[in-house]
Amino acid sequence: MAKKDIDWANLGFGYIVTDKRYVSNYKDGAWDDGAIVDDPNITLNECAGVFQYAQTVFEGLKAYTTEDGHIVTFRPDLNAERLEESCRRLEIPVLPEGRFLEAVREVVAANEDWVPPYGSGATLYIRPYVMGTNPVIGVKPADEYQFRILVTPVGPYFKGGAKPLTIRVSDFDRAAPHGTGHIKAGLNYAMSLHAIVSAHKEGYDENMYLDPGTRTKVEETGGANFLFVTKDGKVVTPKSDSILPSITRRSLMIVAEKYLGLTVEHREVYLDELGDMAECGLCGTAAVISPVGCIDDHGRKIMFPSGMEEMGPVTKKLYDTLTGIQMGRIEAPEGWICTIK
Ligand SMILES: *Cc1c(COP(=O)(O)O)cnc(C)c1O
Repeated sequence: MAKKDIDWANLGFGYIVTDKRYVSNYKDGAWDDGAIVDDPNITLNECAGVFQYAQTVFEGLKAYTTEDGHIVTFRPDLNAERLEESCRRLEIPVLPEGRFLEAVREVVAANEDWVPPYGSGATLYIRPYVMGTNPVIGVKPADEYQFRILVTPVGPYFKGGAKPLTIRVSDFDRAAPHGTGHIKAGLNYAMSLHAIVSAHKEGYDENMYLDPGTRTKVEETGGANFLFVTKDGKVVTPKSDSILPSITRRSLMIVAEKYLGLTVEHREVYLDELGDMAECGLCGTAAVISPVGCIDDHGRKIMFPSGMEEMGPVTKKLYDTLTGIQMGRIEAPEGWICTIK
């Protein structure tokens, strides 16, 4: 066993095929035992539920090499819990939490050589997903499903430092209809693609989606939750039933309170009050926190005092503390770090 010969520090965020993946199939009302397999391709019937009615959900987490050389994952129990919620909402049978955690462990261990070394800035991205596999043409849930986990090494999100983003207030609604906005499903991402492509064309990095009912409250971007720091140093993050409950955001709220002694507010946040904020960031597994320098609300530019050159000071402390916990440099709260080997 030897680490793959990869220029870890210069990896991007793209798919690289690795050696092993995990597969388990659901048939006749039960999940099979599951196995690690070699084939990265999936062969399905043309009428499979996933193709016709987009019956598929996913998760995303990472494996890290710690300072003392262990391979760990970060709060994978919360990914299991969230996948379960997503599955219930799309009438997909649930893989028990114990099975999920064991599958993550097995697939990371089987791809040990693909886990980037400590200090490279790179990590192993882990993507669990479930799909309806048998033919479905009448509108109903499939009867058979496949659960898979693929892993792929990804580079440091911020090459040469974190440059603050420019975000626009979107005229599109993020969430697919019928309250599916709080689950992690490809259908929500499919609905965000047009908005993101047009934002990029117009020179913005991301979209800020508002609550579709009143269009006065901040929800999230296509794939990350907002976190704000007020001018008096409080951490504020939007509360809404149609926001995906980010594990990074939930962890940062605990870090802010317990490690940095800050006041944290999880509440409705109005577009109107953003001018009172000192810092803004986007939270998610991929980047931990991406700083935001400017929000453009139809030509009205909200410039955060932290500026367009670097992360704000509180954002930076949050980033350093959470990544320190993930990389084993700072003691983690009980149960946050799951050691694979
Ligand atoms: C995955 C995701 C996030 C970030 O969640 P993490 O658990 O922190 O990675 C935020 N919003 C949406 C819509 C997502 O799909």
